[in-house]
Amino acid sequence: MKILIVDDSRTIRAALEAMVTRLGHATMTAKSGGEALQRFVHERPDLVLLDVTMPDLDGYAVARKLRDLSGSDWLPIIFLSASDEDQDLDRAISAGGDDYLVKPVSQVVLGAKIRAMQRIDAMHRNLARLSADLETANRELARISREDGLTKLANRRRFDEHLRVELQRATRTGQPLSLALCDVDHFKGYNDRYGHAQGDECLKQVAQVLRRECRRPTDLAARYGGEEFALVLPDTPLWGAAEVAERVRRALEAQAIPHAASKAADIVTLSVGVACAEPRAQTAAERLIEWADRALYRAKEIGRNRVVAASSG
Ligand code: GH3
Ligand code: MG
Ligand code: MG
Repeated sequence: MKILIVDDSRTIRAALEAMVTRLGHATMTAKSGGEALQRFVHERPDLVLLDVTMPDLDGYAVARKLRDLSGSDWLPIIFLSASDEDQDLDRAISAGGDDYLVKPVSQVVLGAKIRAMQRIDAMHRNLARLSADLETANRELARISREDGLTKLANRRRFDEHLRVELQRATRTGQPLSLALCDVDHFKGYNDRYGHAQGDECLKQVAQVLRRECRRPTDLAARYGGEEFALVLPDTPLWGAAEVAERVRRALEAQAIPHAASKAADIVTLSVGVACAEPRAQTAAERLIEWADRALYRAKEIGRNRVVAASSG
C-alpha cells in the first residue's frame, strides 16, 4: 500500500516512516494538514495515518476534507493520537476515521491494523468492480431488450413504446404523426428459393435501406415482426409519410436484390401502407396500426411493390 503519514513532529514522522517501510509499504509524509490534503490530491495514497493535534488544520478537519475529496472511493484513515480519552476516540471516528491508535504505537499493532484496513479495502475494490460490471451488463441488457437481434433495428417492444410516447407528444404539440408499415413482397418464396440464411441476409439489407432513408432524428425504423417493418414518423403529415415510403420503396428497388420467385418483379420489393394520426384527434396506437395495416393490405391487393396511403381513419 501507499501510505501517507501525517504528523507535525519530525521525530514521530521518521519513526512511523521506518515502521511502515519495515512492514513492506511505500510511504509519503506530510508535516501539516494542508500538506496532507495536497499530497492526497496529487498522489492518492491508499491509507492515511493521521495525527490529531497539528498547528494548522487538526486531524478531525483533515479527515472530513479527505472524505469529501475521496468521494465514492473508500480511503482508510487511522488516527494516531497522544490522548487515550474515550471522547477523543469518539470524535475521531465521527470525523471520518476508521480506527484510532494511541501513541506511541508498536509495530505489531500498527501492522495488524494496516492489514485489517487492507482487507476491507480489497473488499471495497471488489465491490466497486462488481457494481461497475453489473452496470455495464445492465446497459447491455437494456440495449438488447430494445433491439432486434438480426437487423439491429428497434424491436417490437421499442416500437410499441416509441409509438405510444410519440402519439402523446403529437397530441400535446398538435402535430400530425404518421406510421408506415412495410412488408417484403413474396418473401416466403424468397426463403424457399434461396434458403433461410440468405433470407436473413436479405432482411438485413432491407433494414439497412430503412435506416438510411429514415433521416430525421425523431424518425424510428423498427422490425415489426418477421419480414415486416415499421416507420414511426413524428411531425409528418400523410403526404409527407407517403413521400418517405416511396423513397424507401425506390431505394430498395435500386438495390436490385435478385428474387426470381417474386411474382411482383424479379427483384426484392416492398409494399407499404401509410396512415396518419391527425393533430388533436387523440388516436390510439392500435387504431393507427390498424389503418396502416389496412392500407398495406390494399397495396398487396392491387399488385405489390407500391405505397398506399390510408384515405382516412
Ligand atoms: P406477401 O407478398 O403477401 O407479403 O407474401 P409473403 O410471402 O412475403 O408473406 P407471408 O406472410 O406468407 O410470408 C412471410 C415469410 O417471411 C414467412 C417466413 O418464412 C418469412 N420470414 C419471417 N421472418 C423471417 C426471418 O426472420 N428470416 C427469414 N429468413 N424469413 C422470415
Ligand atoms: Mg408479412
Ligand atoms: Mg411479405
